[in-house]
Amino acid sequence: MTQVTRREAILSATAAATLGLVGPLEFVAGAFADEARNKGFTTYKIGDIECTSLYDGIWKKKHDDGFIRNASVDETKTALAKAGLSTEFVPIEFTQTVLKTGGKTILIDAGTGGQLAPSAGLSMKHMAAAGIDAGSIDTILISHFHPDHIFGLMAKDTNEPIFPNAEIIVPETEYKFWTDPALIEKLPDNRKGLGTRIQATFPTWTNIRQVNNDTEVAPGVRSLSAFGHTPGHTAFHVASGSDQLMVVGDIANLPALFVTNPTWQAVFDADPATATATRLKLFDRAIAESAVIAGYHFGFPNAGTISKDGNGYMFEPAAA
Ligand SMILES: [Zn+2]
Repeated sequence: MTQVTRREAILSATAAATLGLVGPLEFVAGAFADEARNKGFTTYKIGDIECTSLYDGIWKKKHDDGFIRNASVDETKTALAKAGLSTEFVPIEFTQTVLKTGGKTILIDAGTGGQLAPSAGLSMKHMAAAGIDAGSIDTILISHFHPDHIFGLMAKDTNEPIFPNAEIIVPETEYKFWTDPALIEKLPDNRKGLGTRIQATFPTWTNIRQVNNDTEVAPGVRSLSAFGHTPGHTAFHVASGSDQLMVVGDIANLPALFVTNPTWQAVFDADPATATATRLKLFDRAIAESAVIAGYHFGFPNAGTISKDGNGYMFEPAAA
């Protein structure tokens, strides 16, 4: 059996209290994180709101020169090694969040649906393991329309809706961008299929609701403009009592690269300058407000605390 090693540290009293913990909190190190991935879910509380992180899996992305606009493959590998990660590939992981608030069960982002990478698509299995019936989900909040966030809404070959009885709440700006019929010819070739698929499905579904940004979308949950990664990319701010959680979607990809080096620009960011400004702004807000932060690509567990660290930031996942 693999020996479990844990790096122990004392969290600030505020953050520990926010996560419902008393006393020392063990931050997650390699072997423990592997245990959490195998289990497939973790739970924590924000005030009265029950939160569950669901692990959807990993895309072991090959290194390529175009991945980060302003960092080389060598610099990328150095940053991965510094974080104790393998330099063989870029570990892009996917983690969704479920909230139970005001009698509603809310899923944030829909996962890959097993349609992107062979080692991803596990979130429905892990949802069941966490005791959450997929049929009981009342609301799905979508941060943006990239495949890893919406393919879990639609069946692989038929596009049949996977959650026909849930209300799917989407950012109006994002919806208008992707459903513009004139868009397809303007998209780069590697995004045309995505645009076509969105236009073949979403406008025909009656359970989609567009919302403006910065509005309440569920009890204690507000949408938060976080543009740049895509034109309408949206984060979600969760509050209960004095506790806060920011579910920040893709304002940053994996922490080892983009939290440590917040000005590095992944090729996935549609508007790199705006994406960078958004990243810095929301990191600083999470620090100022002692909010727990959860990123879709922050590994697993994906919720924890963020702090300033030299020229960048440091994300510390919490074993909640
Ligand atoms: Zn993503």
